[in-house]
Amino acid sequence: MANITQEDIFAVLKTDGHPWLFYNVFTLLNEELKQLSEHFPSEECSRWLVLVFGLPIKDLSLWVWHVAEDQRYLFANHILERTADAVLSYVKSRGVIAIDVAREEARNISLVELACKAGLGTRGINNLFLHPEFGSWVQLHALLIRSNVEASLPVPLLDVCIGCQMCIAACPADAITQEAFYADRCNRMVASYWVPKSKARAISTSSYVECHKCISECPIGTLPTSFVGGEVI
Ligand code: SF4
Ligand code: SF4
Repeated sequence: MANITQEDIFAVLKTDGHPWLFYNVFTLLNEELKQLSEHFPSEECSRWLVLVFGLPIKDLSLWVWHVAEDQRYLFANHILERTADAVLSYVKSRGVIAIDVAREEARNISLVELACKAGLGTRGINNLFLHPEFGSWVQLHALLIRSNVEASLPVPLLDVCIGCQMCIAACPADAITQEAFYADRCNRMVASYWVPKSKARAISTSSYVECHKCISECPIGTLPTSFVGGEVI
C-alpha cells in the first residue's frame, strides 16, 4: 500500500478543489480515533491522515436547501462532495483505504471537533465551528486516509469566540445558553419554514434557507452576499 502524504493531498486540492476552500491535514492514531467514536473498529496500530476542509459561505446561494420528496440537498455540500470525490479517487487509485467522514460517519464523529483539531478554528458559544475570518459562515467536510506518514502538527489557535453572547440574545428558540446547547429547540426552528414563527425562510416551494440568527448576529465573519435585493434574508 502506498503512503499518502499531506503534500499529495494539498496538490489534489489545489488542482481540483473549489478556489474558496480552506483546509488542513493532521494525524490521528487509531486509538485516538476510537476516543472520538467508539463505533470505530480497532485495527492493528494504524495511523490516519485527517483532511478537514471547509467552504466559506460568501454567497447565500451556497446555503440554500433544496427539498425533493423525503430528501434534502445543500448546495455547499455538493461542492464539498465534488472535492471529496477528487481526493478519494486519487487516494484509492494508489490502493489506499479512505473514509468519507461527512457522508459515512457524521453521526459518530463530529466535523466541528475535527476542524478544531486541525487548527482551523474553535467552537463558539453558538455551538458551531468558528473560523477566525469567516465566523460560522462555513460548511465543513472531512476524510480519513490511511497513511504511515505523519502530517505536521497543526498550529494551536486561540479561542475565536469572544464570549459576547450576541448569539444567545439572537436565538429565537432559547437554544443557546452559556452552559449548554439545546439541539431539540434549535431543530424546531431551523428548518421548519412552514411553522409560523420559524426563522427559516422559503425561497421557492422546494427550497429554503435555515435559521441563521446565531451566525448572522455573531461579530466574527462577514455576512454573505444575498440574491434578494442585496439583503441577507
Ligand atoms: S439556528 Fe436559529 S434556532 Fe438554532 S441555535 Fe441558531 S439562532 Fe437558535
Ligand atoms: S456571537 Fe459572540 S459568543 Fe456567540 S459565538 Fe459569536 S463571538 Fe461567540
